[in-house]
Parts: sequence; C-alpha cells; structure tokens
Amino acid sequence: MSVKVRRRQKIFFSKVGKTMFQDKTLVCKECGKEFVFTAGEQEFYAEKEFKNEPQRCKECRNNRKQALRANREMYEATCAGCGGVAKVPFQPKDGRPVYCSECYAKMKEEQQG
Ligand SMILES: [Zn+2]
Ligand SMILES: [Zn+2]
Repeated sequence: MSVKVRRRQKIFFSKVGKTMFQDKTLVCKECGKEFVFTAGEQEFYAEKEFKNEPQRCKECRNNRKQALRANREMYEATCAGCGGVAKVPFQPKDGRPVYCSECYAKMKEEQQG
C-alpha cells in the first residue's frame, strides 16, 4: 500500500503519530496582530492537553507574564533611606530596614566604591 503525500506545506507529525499539525495563523486578541501558532507549538499544546488555542501573540504573552510578575507579591514599605515608598518582593519584617530601589542602588554603589 502506498500513500502519496502531495502537500508541500511544512507538515509536522507528532510523536503520537496520529495527529498532523501545520503552522496556523491566528490573530492576537490583545494587539490584533497576526501571529503564527507553529506546528511545534500545536504539538506542545496537544501533549499538554490544552483545549484552547493561544489568544495572544508571543509578545503580548510575554508582556502579560512580566506584568503579572511585577504585580505579584510586591509589598509596600517605608524606605529607611529617603522615607519614600519602597516596593519589595518580600514581606518587610519589623525592625529590618527596607530601601526603595534608588536607595538600594546607592547603597550598593557605596559598598562597592
Ligand atoms: Zn499581541
Ligand atoms: Zn529610598
């Protein structure tokens, strides 16, 4: 029995051997740009059993990740250096001085210099 493959497009056979993936163009719901949902990514999604296709392009996904990371677990405290608001990724403990990023950078400089 012979099987003829006529497609010239890049075809991706998954390790499962049953599913066939092809690069697919999707539209990002965040920025409206088109992006490619590659065959490799599709296989990855299938392996992980993700039911939904990606809604956003890579750029927007990265931006969201970064935004989430930035918002997550940031505590506000009073800077022991300038008295301003210091945002730190840990819960400030009583008696331990907390510095804002500016004062922290200054301290580092002084320590090095
Ligand atoms: Zn986007
Ligand atoms: Zn400060």
